[in-house]
Formats: sequence, structure tokens, C-alpha cells
Amino acid sequence: MPYAEERRIAIEAVERASFLCRTVQANLVAEASMDKKDKSPVTVADFGAQAVVTHALRGAFPELPLVGEEDAAELRDPANRGIADQVVAHVAETVPGIEADAVLDLIDYGTYPGGGSGRHWTLDPIDGTKGFLRLDQYAVALALIEDGEVVLGVLGCPNMPLDASDPDGERGCLFVAVKGEGAFRRALSGGPEEGVAVTRIDDPSQAKFCESVEAAHSSQSDSAQVAQKLGITAEPFRIDSQCKYGAVSRGDASIYLRLPTRADYEEKIWDHAAGAIVVREAGGKVTDIRGRELDFSLGRTLKNNSGVIVTNGALHDRVIEAVGEVLGF
Ligand code: AMP
Ligand code: MG
Repeated sequence: MPYAEERRIAIEAVERASFLCRTVQANLVAEASMDKKDKSPVTVADFGAQAVVTHALRGAFPELPLVGEEDAAELRDPANRGIADQVVAHVAETVPGIEADAVLDLIDYGTYPGGGSGRHWTLDPIDGTKGFLRLDQYAVALALIEDGEVVLGVLGCPNMPLDASDPDGERGCLFVAVKGEGAFRRALSGGPEEGVAVTRIDDPSQAKFCESVEAAHSSQSDSAQVAQKLGITAEPFRIDSQCKYGAVSRGDASIYLRLPTRADYEEKIWDHAAGAIVVREAGGKVTDIRGRELDFSLGRTLKNNSGVIVTNGALHDRVIEAVGEVLGF
């Protein structure tokens, strides 16, 4: 299988980071007295996850650069010493004996500018930090980009029910896709992979759509109008992070709408690369609001695109048309 070694290492890296995030989130639950406004747990998990993933990737592919969401500048500030110590302690659970300097250097490895030639990784160590703090959904998202094209994606979704029809059942789902090889999921705890596929719904009124919980990230009023035009009556399925791509890939929903809240926002490559290949390999389609392919070749952002529309493929043209009518183009 192409990219077999990259796939294996990427899964291992995402698993380790997912477990680190889970540990931090479990402490968040246990420390009931903690100030709810304190954002430090997500900061610790975010930096810790980036360090753990980078450690695994660099061990196997020392020459491959990384576009990561985080860098260690904040952590190097003596005022944040307490946070830095916690990050190092969590990373040391996976990488015994690692020193503070080495952890900060790993985090700073993510500053690669990206672009359209050669290969690089892109990582969102915790996508959906708001969901993480609400003890809700978040994802560790890692992808490999080759000459501007996503060729491998792994999504660790530590809180996502393994089976959407059994929301109280086991949680923790991992999605993985390699270009041309299909999309798969398995329990984060291990076990066999099984193929996933998008829904076959071709009547938009029967579709369910998902969108961000955070209204600042996607216009919920515009999506309500799009849904109305399509005759969708089901309530939107709101879920943080690239778990939305996972949800479409396995048929929990047929549409994911991410409609711009401001004209000047540039989507980040790490917020979409892994999710996009998972959905595509599951048979779905991913474009921007005008139906253009997402262009991962331009650096750290999708500067040639606006918003993101994800569907099961069959519904795509109808959804793009409705979006155009609502947004006036
Ligand atoms: P979600 O969980 O789908 O709401 O997306 C979380 C991601 O939204 C974060 O990783 C941010 O990078 C991204 N984000 C932040 N501000 C905006 C914005 N104004 N529009 C779209 N995405 C945003
Ligand atoms: Mg993100």
C-alpha cells in the first residue's frame, strides 16, 4: 500500500496525542473547583499534543517539515513557566526523560510555511479548543501534503461516539484515509479498521447537515436559510472540530456547511486537510462556497478559498446552488 509507513506512524502519533488530551481533559473534570474561565488546560494539551506528534514524526521522517498550529514563543516566556512545566510533564509520560528544552524545540518545529512543492505534514494538535473546554468534541488532525495535494489524513476524535446511533456507547474514534485507498475508522482504543462511506441520499430535503457549535466560526443564520432552500427540516447537527468531517464520512450527516462570518477570514490548512481527504475517500466532495477545490498549495492558509462545503457528492451541486442564492453570487 502506498504511504504505508507514513500511515502507520501518523496513526501512532495521533493516538498518543489523543491520549494526552484525554488525560488533561480528565483532570479538568476531576478538578471541580477549577475556574471555568481558566484556559490553561487546553493550552497544556494543545502544546503537549503538538510536541508528542512532532516527536513521533521526526523520529520516523526527520527530513519532513511540519505546518503546525502552535509555536513555543508563549511557552518560552518566563511568565508561563508553570504551564511549560505541565506541558513537559505530560509529554514525558509518552517520551520518558525528555527535557524542557527539547519539548519547546519540538513545538517550534511546526513553523514551516507550507507551499506547493515537496512534502510536508500539517497538524492541528487540538482542533475545536472550545469544544475541549466544554468537555465536548475536539480532534487531533494530522495530514501529509505532497506537491500541494493532501495524500494522507488521520483524525483522532477522543470523545466521538464510535457509533452515532449509540451515543451512550464507547467513545473515541479514529479516521484514516490515504489517497486512492478509501477511508476507514476504528476505535481509538484499538481493534480492526472498517471502511466508511458517505450517505447515498440524493433528495436534499432528506439530508441532515452539520455545522460549528461556535457561531463565530460559521454563519448559522446563513446556513438556516440554505437549509430552508433545500427543504431540510431536521435541526442542524452542531459539533466542534473536524469531527464534522468524520460525521459526514460515516454517514451521520450528508452535508457540512462552513459559511464565512467575515469576508477576510482565511481558513487554515490544518483545520481541513485531514478531514477533507477522509470525506473524499469515503466518496464525498469538499469544495469552498463557490464550488472550487480547496487549494492546499498556497502556504499555511487556504487563501484562494472562502468557506467550506462538504457533501456526500450526490448533493453537492444543489447545495452550492443554494449557498450561492443565499449569499448572493
Ligand atoms: P469548529 O470547531 O469547526 O468551529 O472550528 C474550529 C476552528 O475554527 C479553529 O481551529 C479555528 O482555527 C477556526 N476559526 C477561528 N476563527 C474562525 C472564523 N472567523 N471563521 C472560521 N473559522 C475560524
Ligand atoms: Mg483548529
